Amino acid sequence: GQCVKICPVGALHEKIDLKNLNHDLKNPMKHIVVQMAPAIKNTIGEEFGILPGTDITKKMVAALKDLGFDRVFSTDFSADVTIMEEGTEFLDRFTNGGKLPMFTSCCPGWINYAEINHPEFLDNLSSCKSPQQIFGALSKSYYSKISGVEPSEVYSVSIMPCTAKKDENIRDTMMDHEGNKDVDMVITTRELAKLFKLNKINLAGYEKEEEFDRLLGEGTGAARIFASTGGVMEAALRTVSDVLGETSHSLEYKEVRGFEGVRRANLVLAGKEVNVAVINGIKNATPFLESVKKGETTVDFVEVMACVGGCLNGGGAPAPDNMRVVATRKIGLYDSDEKSALRKSHENLEVKKLYEDFLGKPGGHKSHHLLHTHYKSRKK
Ligand code: SF4
Repeated sequence: GQCVKICPVGALHEKIDLKNLNHDLKNPMKHIVVQMAPAIKNTIGEEFGILPGTDITKKMVAALKDLGFDRVFSTDFSADVTIMEEGTEFLDRFTNGGKLPMFTSCCPGWINYAEINHPEFLDNLSSCKSPQQIFGALSKSYYSKISGVEPSEVYSVSIMPCTAKKDENIRDTMMDHEGNKDVDMVITTRELAKLFKLNKINLAGYEKEEEFDRLLGEGTGAARIFASTGGVMEAALRTVSDVLGETSHSLEYKEVRGFEGVRRANLVLAGKEVNVAVINGIKNATPFLESVKKGETTVDFVEVMACVGGCLNGGGAPAPDNMRVVATRKIGLYDSDEKSALRKSHENLEVKKLYEDFLGKPGGHKSHHLLHTHYKSRKK
């Protein structure tokens, strides 16, 4: 039967007033933008009887416009930005003797866990905000600049497969100095399905298709695979290897794919040895961290995702009957990556434009101000 979905790190459960959002979406005086996480496009269809893994991105964009969102954007765009920032940070630590191993920071379930249980590793976490929060910060700065809508007038909504994202956006480090949040409201995949049903939109019989709105809508295949365990690492390696000048192995890193709880790979990129690891499921984090502390594990770069399988199996995603459903979602996801015209984050044309016109360079002053954060120990 249907299993009960519970976030592995006990994040807030779904509680949101969808009726209020629905009401605001019909109000022409409100300017509401939405970002949709990579996992949504290959999972939400299940709520309407569509086969797991089916990519219904274009239908989703059209349906979100029908709901009344003023601009429909993609978290894939900011996932590519995350790779630009995190890849730059890793290369800086790696080549200049910085703190290693570096851990990914896009999963708030993992960040909460590290702050509560392993504060001794906080300096090892990448300082990059997650793709959700990077998008939010850009929606109140870059988007305001190009659209002419004041930051205080932009209401930024995100659709996430994750209940932990609902306490990420209320962190005091995820707002400007006046207390304006980067992301105003987070709704889960299942809540969005409810919102569609409330508006009598059935995605299964829905014919319309549209493209994402421009300048914060483009995403590469690398961004898409963020939704799977191993995906953030693979996306980072695609960019890091190009920056290092690696020519023989730079697109698919099958070494880091899979469903094992801990996966390790030893890569030689442009003559340099890089040790990476992927931690799949939060219960595998503590034994791994202990082995790093004891010096039994040598590693440079580590991805941690709290949910087994990654965001495809997040606490806010449609509840799968079993892991076979998650595996089918994953096949659909990597298929979407393969079909993408661009598969490396640094090739994203809108991301290039963002850096040229607004941010300057990855890891630069403006990026640090808007897109990076810090962590604090919450150990009792
Ligand atoms: Fe959320 Fe994804 Fe982390 Fe699960 S793996 S807690 S869905 S970010």
